[in-house]
Parts: sequence; C-alpha cells; structure tokens
Amino acid sequence: MAFEGLSERLQNTFAKLRGKGKVTKADVQEMMREVRLALLEADVNFDVTKNFIKTVQERAVGSEVLDSLTPAQQVIKIVNEELTKIMGSSAVLLNQASHIPTVIMLVGLQGSGKTTSAGKLVKYLQAEKNARPLLIAADVYRPAAIDQLQTIGQQVQVPVYDEGTNQDPVEIVRHGLETAQAKKNDYVLIDTAGRLEIDDQLMSELSRIKQVAQPTEILLVVDSMTGQAATHVAEGFNDRLDISGVILTKLDGDTRGGAALSIRAVTGKPIKFVGSGEKLDALEVFHPDRMADRILGMGDVLTLIEKAEKDYDEKQAAALTRKMQENTFDFNDFVDQLEQMQKMGPMDEIMKMMPGMAANPALKNVHMDPQDIEHLKAVVYSMTPQERQTPELLNPSRRRRIATGSGRPLVEVNRMIKQFKQMQTLMQKMSKGNFNGMEQMMGP
Ligand code: GDP
Repeated sequence: MAFEGLSERLQNTFAKLRGKGKVTKADVQEMMREVRLALLEADVNFDVTKNFIKTVQERAVGSEVLDSLTPAQQVIKIVNEELTKIMGSSAVLLNQASHIPTVIMLVGLQGSGKTTSAGKLVKYLQAEKNARPLLIAADVYRPAAIDQLQTIGQQVQVPVYDEGTNQDPVEIVRHGLETAQAKKNDYVLIDTAGRLEIDDQLMSELSRIKQVAQPTEILLVVDSMTGQAATHVAEGFNDRLDISGVILTKLDGDTRGGAALSIRAVTGKPIKFVGSGEKLDALEVFHPDRMADRILGMGDVLTLIEKAEKDYDEKQAAALTRKMQENTFDFNDFVDQLEQMQKMGPMDEIMKMMPGMAANPALKNVHMDPQDIEHLKAVVYSMTPQERQTPELLNPSRRRRIATGSGRPLVEVNRMIKQFKQMQTLMQKMSKGNFNGMEQMMGP
C-alpha cells in the first residue's frame, strides 16, 4: 500500500499530541521536525518538503491552534489541508476536444507502464464516456511493444493501428489519425516509444509527433516506485513537451509515495490518474483530498464506495440486506460475499481505506490472500445443501467429514464456522443500526 511508512510515522507523531490540553510553540516545532523527516524518508522532493513545513508551521503556531481546546485535531486539519494543496487540491479530469477525435498522447520512459495505461484508459473511456477509441502503435523500436498493444487492444476490444517497425513513427501517427477520422473514432490514444532515460533524440521525435497530432492531452506515465527520479522525469518531459498531466503507475507497490506528493508542486501539472495494479481495471482518478485522508489514516470512504458501486451487484446487495434483517444469512451467502470481495480487490487494501483502519494494528494480521478465500470456499462446497442453509446442523462428525472432503484441517473448519457465526450475529446487530461489533470482527 502506498504511503505506508509516511502514514505510520505521521500518525505516531500526532498520537503524541493527542490528549494534550495545551500545545506550546516548542511542541509544534518538535512535531514539525518529525513530519519533515517523515516526508524526506517518503522520498518527497526537498524543496516541496521545505515549503510544506514552513507553511504548516506558520499556520500551526497561530493562535487558532495554540488557544484551541483540541490542538492536535487542529494541527492534523492543517496538515491535511496542506497535503491536499501540494497534490493539487481537487481532481483534474481529462480534457475533451471540441471536435472528434480527442487525441491523447502517452509518453514516458520504458517500463513506466505506458502501454498498460493505454489499455486502462481505453477501459476508463469506454465506461465513463461510452467511447469508441482507436489505439495507435507508435513505438517502433521495440517490436514486442506493438504485439503488446495489439494484445491489449484485443482485450479491450478496440482496433490498434500499426505499420510494423519500419516506418517513421510520425508518419504512422499521421496515417492513424486519418484512419480515425474515416472511422469516426471519438478518441485516439497514441502509444509512443520510451527510452531508459530522457534523451534528445526521443524528445525531438515526441515533439514532431506532437506537432502532427495536435493532442488535447499529453499524459506522462511515470513509475511511482522510482520516487524522486519520477519527479525529475516529470520535470524533464514537461520542459520539452509541456505535458497536460501525469499518470502515476504502480502506486500499489510504492510504500513511500514521494512522487505522488511532489510532482504537482514541482511541475505545476496535475496527476490525473493513478495505476494501482497490473490489471486493466486498476486505474483510479487521482483525488488529492482523498489521498491526503488516506495518508493521515482518515480512510478513503468515497473511493471505497465508488469501488463498491462499480463492482457490487445491486440486486445481490438488496437481497443481502433482507437476509441480514431476517437473520437468514447462510453459508451460500457467505460464499457470495467472499466472491464479491474478491472482485473488489485485495482485502487488506480495502480495509485500509476505512476510517481509522489504516493505522489499526489489527490490520497487520489481516492477510486475506486469494488462496485463503479459495480454501474457505472449498470448505463451504464440501457441505451438503442442508448444512449450508442450516449451520446448526454442523456437529463434530459432520465437521470431520467436511474437513476430509475439502482437504482442510479440522481446526480451520472449526475456526471458519465460528467466524461465520460471529459474522451472522454482527450482521444482525448491524441491521438494527448497531455498528459496535465491527472492531471485534477486525480483532486479531
Ligand atoms: P511501457 O514500457 O511503459 O509500455 O510499460 P508496460 O505497460 O509494458 O508496463 C511495464 C510493467 O509494469 C508491466 O509488467 C506492467 O504489468 C506493469 N505495470 C504497469 N502499470 C502498473 C501498475 O499500476 N501497477 C503494477 N503493479 N504494475 C504495473
């Protein structure tokens, strides 16, 4: 999960302040020293860190905080607001051309996730705009790049325009755009070549493509895991091409998060999307405010709800609510729930988006890997239909039979039945508006 280190350090720092009735200037200074270290360790750009600390400190030693009854909360509020500000305040969506097609040029270093992001963007545009995009393969230096884009094109069911590797990429783009005009595609996404580092030849080729394509968007794809280097890359590309925004990939694997916090402040250009996995639906609109909430452990409930809305079947949800109220939630529903959760993504990631959960030590023990879910399902599938509907039937001899049938140890079967019963009780409580059981369920 991104920002793990930063999140933990900031929350520990603020925890020291919590409960203090009065906060002195010295307390604030000490805390800001820790915040500064935390940011630098997260690989946030030095100047960005310096300015951030200066602003927060100025605001935090003001009378509104020192005289307040809840100084810790006031300081956290300021840090939250300033974190949001350096990331750009609010989400910046894709621009649309006044006439079709809207041309989006994707640029970036090799391996940054350009080709994958092209596929993700297509899926996003299909879902959000009902778009009919065309992909253009303009990376002629890596033969595999064209094949990769063709494969992605098939996955998302859009045509890919290519002319192999022996043509000038500028001409390929010119012809690709003509094709899009003829076929009335509303979006064109150009996958350009990357290099291992920024060089003149690459930049001049990209400039020529830009001239011909007149793109509405030039999106720079950068790998979040490269930290400060990603920020430098963004600076370099922006100087030469005047990019319109950034797609920050591999945030799922970046425990530090420095690039997400620095790029906007350094380049003045917004991060428009973040990549959060290898699959083509792992693209999220970047919301600075929600990201700041996530960093400070306040949870990102909105993203969670959107995820749930996207993946959740409404009819199933209504049926579940009814079952909760009627207390008829059984093992069949349990398997349905597990499957819904699997669709939403890794459990521990989802949990961390819930308020107060990011820093919850109990979460360290939640490692719901996909295999665990498969095991749970195997246990349920070894039950008879009656047992699934009436868990009370599960006496010791039936449990032994289920263990043998599913190939799982008896203790695991017992534990699962116990957890299931807890879940049933909890659901009943929740359906009556009592949410206190939640923490018990999350306990180690
Ligand atoms: P390109 O050379 O810039 O076109 O990069 P690719 O699209 O080929 O991506 C390079 C590698 O990064 C591939 O293995 C992708 O699956 C992986 N990748 C791309 N985006 C993400 C992401 O958001 N998260 C993760 N975990 N992997 C990603």
